[in-house]
Amino acid sequence: MPNLKQIEDILAQTQCGECGYDGCSPYAEAILNEDIAINRCRPGGELVIKKLAKLLNKPIIRPALPQEKISTANILTSCIGCTLCIQACPTDCITGAPRKLHTVNNYNCSGCKLCVKICPENCIDIIPNPEFSFVENLSQDEKDKWQENRRNEILDLVIKRNNKANKKLKTKKKNIKEASLSEEQLELINKARKKSKDKYSTKNK
Ligand code: SF4
Ligand code: SF4
Ligand code: SF4
Repeated sequence: MPNLKQIEDILAQTQCGECGYDGCSPYAEAILNEDIAINRCRPGGELVIKKLAKLLNKPIIRPALPQEKISTANILTSCIGCTLCIQACPTDCITGAPRKLHTVNNYNCSGCKLCVKICPENCIDIIPNPEFSFVENLSQDEKDKWQENRRNEILDLVIKRNNKANKKLKTKKKNIKEASLSEEQLELINKARKKSKDKYSTKNK
């Protein structure tokens, strides 16, 4: 019987929430305990579906969400330097001083879009990642290998970022999973999601 760690280890680890869960760990739990479909990890694409199907002895199915190019965030000059995106970014790839224009390290950006959801100025675009344009020309096997390595790179960045954030927490809480979003990130992101939901429902009244 596969365990939670085996499932979580296969997921793409960008913590983007595109699967409909607050990160890879909750989605892995839903796959294991609620028999949720194995095709919801968009950044993981077909490779993740194939691996999950093998592990869980399930049929290979088509991705639930359309596949996208390898992307990165791009901050526009209208940035007011509020630093919210820095706090929300799971890979710690945004830099900038308060009230100054922020920038993104493309190599470390997973394209998870969490910064887009939180930015109050709508000044972050998602664009094809120039660091990885070569991937388009790889064979399927090479792409799968690249994706595997990339997943590990992202996971290392997420763990490093969370260790840094957790050290800052005055009261260390037990059960903070090292590769999940930290509580402060989740709180910020949930607030941003609620704000955009409220905005949307007000517009449509
Ligand atoms: S990488 Fe994103 S879509 Fe995939 S499992 Fe993790 S949070 Fe969900
Ligand atoms: S910069 Fe934005 S898209 Fe890139 S990893 Fe950070 S939060 Fe995700
Ligand atoms: S959240 Fe938006 S406005 Fe705030 S620092 Fe980041 S890019 Fe600039």
